[in-house]
Amino acid sequence: MKFEIFTILPELFTPYLGASILQKAAAKGLVEFNLHNIRNYTHDKHHTTDDTPYGGGGGMVMKPEPIFEAVESVLGSPPNCPVVLMTPQGKPFSQSMAFEFASEQQVGIICGRYEGYDERIRQYLVTHEVSIGDFVLTGGELPALMIVDAVTRLLPGVLGDPTGAMDDSHAMGLLEYPHYTKPAEFRGWNVPEELLGGNHQLIEEWRIIQSLRRTHSKRPDLFQKFDPRSLGKKTRKIYEELLKILPLHG
Ligand code: SAM
Repeated sequence: MKFEIFTILPELFTPYLGASILQKAAAKGLVEFNLHNIRNYTHDKHHTTDDTPYGGGGGMVMKPEPIFEAVESVLGSPPNCPVVLMTPQGKPFSQSMAFEFASEQQVGIICGRYEGYDERIRQYLVTHEVSIGDFVLTGGELPALMIVDAVTRLLPGVLGDPTGAMDDSHAMGLLEYPHYTKPAEFRGWNVPEELLGGNHQLIEEWRIIQSLRRTHSKRPDLFQKFDPRSLGKKTRKIYEELLKILPLHG
């Protein structure tokens, strides 16, 4: 899969993309991170990418011409893949959106700066407007890296344990179960017995129950939306008990 990232600050990406799992995934050819400097698509001597807003007011606005030219020269006109605009006004990013993008061959991501984008970029160029939360950052580079990271780890062959991503919080609609490692006893706090005996069915059941309990107490909104059809008899019973007391927490 290829990410085509449009930014005026490509240097912000290099350290993060050049480390750990993302670096290894690119080295193995499982993913490509292509950085496109929007300034290279300007035609004036100052490489201007922003201008003053019509109607006055503070802050500068990203000009449409260099962004259209950059995106269309890399992705075609019209682009034949998702073109994602990073904006606090967008749809909140989620694990299900990460799965959706991971099924694409190519995804374009536009990173904003300044006060905002010329509205024609939203109207006539992008296919998705995506936010990483209800707060405002100085630029779209960190949000873009979050999407690139979340999507890349879902690509086949990227994680050492191919089932790892399916156990993660949000993959199946629940938060992940608690983890423990050695030692079995630390300052008098013991690892739960269910995890110590090597009984895989017991461990699996314990994990599902913990996932249900922790989603119920930390994220009742997710718990209410959870589809219990995949649960076994015992875990289904726990789910139904938790469901009965949900209004106390909700
Ligand atoms: N004035 C804009 C508004 O209220 O919608 C915010 C502009 S912000 C200072 C500059 C850029 O940072 C945005 O264009 C976007 O690319 C990025 N950005 C800031 N917060 C973001 C968020 N929560 N999610 C995604 N991108 C964000």
